[in-house]
Amino acid sequence: MQYSKLCETYEDLEKNPSRLKKTEILSKFFKPLKKEKDKQIIYLLQGKVYPDYDEREFGISEQLCIKALEKSSGVSKKEIINHWRKIGDLGKVAEQVIGNKKQNTLFSHKLTTDKVLDNLKKLPELQGKGAVDKKLSLISELLTSATGTEAKYIIRTLIGQLRIGVASGTIRDSIVESCLEKNKENTEAVQDAYNKTTDFALVFEKACKGIKELKKVTLSPGHPIKAMLALKADSIEDGFKRVGKPAIFEYKYDGFRMIINKDEKGKINIFTRRLDNVTNQFPDVVEYIQKYINAKSFIIDSEAVGYDKKTKKYTPFQAVSQRIKRKHNIQELVKKLPIEINAFDILYYNGKELISEPFEKRTKILRKLIQNHKYKIRTAHQLITSSEKKADKFYKQALKNNQEGLMIKNKDSKYQPGARVGHMLKLKPAENELDLVITGAEYGKGKRAGSYATFTLSCLDEKNNKFVEIGKSSGLKEKPELGLSFTELTKKLKPLITKEHGRKVNIQPKIVVTILYQNIQRSPTYKSGFALRFPRITQLRPDRKADDCATLSEITKGYNRHELKIHY
Ligand code: AMP
Repeated sequence: MQYSKLCETYEDLEKNPSRLKKTEILSKFFKPLKKEKDKQIIYLLQGKVYPDYDEREFGISEQLCIKALEKSSGVSKKEIINHWRKIGDLGKVAEQVIGNKKQNTLFSHKLTTDKVLDNLKKLPELQGKGAVDKKLSLISELLTSATGTEAKYIIRTLIGQLRIGVASGTIRDSIVESCLEKNKENTEAVQDAYNKTTDFALVFEKACKGIKELKKVTLSPGHPIKAMLALKADSIEDGFKRVGKPAIFEYKYDGFRMIINKDEKGKINIFTRRLDNVTNQFPDVVEYIQKYINAKSFIIDSEAVGYDKKTKKYTPFQAVSQRIKRKHNIQELVKKLPIEINAFDILYYNGKELISEPFEKRTKILRKLIQNHKYKIRTAHQLITSSEKKADKFYKQALKNNQEGLMIKNKDSKYQPGARVGHMLKLKPAENELDLVITGAEYGKGKRAGSYATFTLSCLDEKNNKFVEIGKSSGLKEKPELGLSFTELTKKLKPLITKEHGRKVNIQPKIVVTILYQNIQRSPTYKSGFALRFPRITQLRPDRKADDCATLSEITKGYNRHELKIHY
């Protein structure tokens, strides 16, 4: 396909903010795509070149894009930067400098989506000596044959700011509209296939062949899936009301999610909730799996929780969070920050998908399969009961053990990848805590000169697929050993700047933080319609993507139920 055709669709999507209109535009675009052999063009619509589960990144800075623009347009770097300062969008800068040049020269060949995919796919592979030069020439090659509009989208893709506002729900609905009859069952089937594969190109390919083929899509170990998420319960009583009696209670471990896969060939892969493959970071877990789980293949859902080597007491998530990102001296960290795996679900076992089986059955299979070894790998502490008194005792025991609270699960429920479901609830002591994403910052003065000192916090308005501001925080409990300090945060945010205006900067929504606040009010000051009072940043959440932060509807519901109200 001509890249220009895709760019026309990008332009249409950018101009039309309504989700309905976007679905119409995309469905139209998908119709001819049904005949194309290669469905990977869908990745380009997502601003990527790989499926969602593939964490490879282009690793291209704005500075490198500027160099590539200089090389392919002949306009000086200084001029490009000046221009960028004025309009703040490097994509638009590219459109102008490349567009102007094109008025004077005749370009020889037209850019195809294959060529764009080809060059972009090479970028994440380039590392080490000479990598920057090679990256530069791959990008310049594309820009040289691009029109102004094409250059705009190449640059925006490279820096992760496509700005066409297409959420995965829109892609799902457009696949339904272009391939199947539009109804609830088909929409669910497309969503289901996506949740199992996290690959829209594959889902589209199956949907083109009809609903039967689509329904054949199964989980496959080694391929990350979206984790099932929980809703909040107010109390044990509320929990029983919502999931029925007896309910299955489990400790809610204060750690991080790990979905452990062993494929038919015996290969072990460990994924986080963000779908990042972290197998290399956890050789200890790989060893426990080999030793203590005797099965040919499986997908197991679990929470990894840290403990103190000496006292053997469980530690909060933040104490072990470093293990997720560490790429070097891994063994050293394995010894320093040991973790215990608490398995709580099994989704696939010896060649068979289990997600439609009732939870009670799945948990029994899991419990037969794992040989429990304390401080290594074990099944989650569990209590099946109809008694509020017994459940309450179990809750207190979990808190005493330094865990966050309880999970309350319906014994008959399926596992629904990617869904936030009402049959798995979380119960924690009331606390004014939210996970939010940083979308702006402001330079400090005096002691904080040179660092950012105030951070703009946003939640996800999932209906419009936008991050909306909800407050500003100048409070941060510094824990430099955990990467949380004003200087460390400044370092992390600087490469994500999208616009500078005076002392303030806009930041790409990438860094998720946990904040504590005193109360929440309705307020016209911020786009969310709410304002947090006295928010303080307490933790970095490197295990979460921006999309995992609190949503506006959750906050609204919580506010309406007085759940998030004043706690003085
Ligand atoms: P939250 O992160 O507060 O939305 O709570 C849900 C998270 O709790 C899940 O994503 C898991 O990472 C974690 N968790 C801890 N223990 C369990 C458990 N026994 N069952 C399910 N999830 C658990």
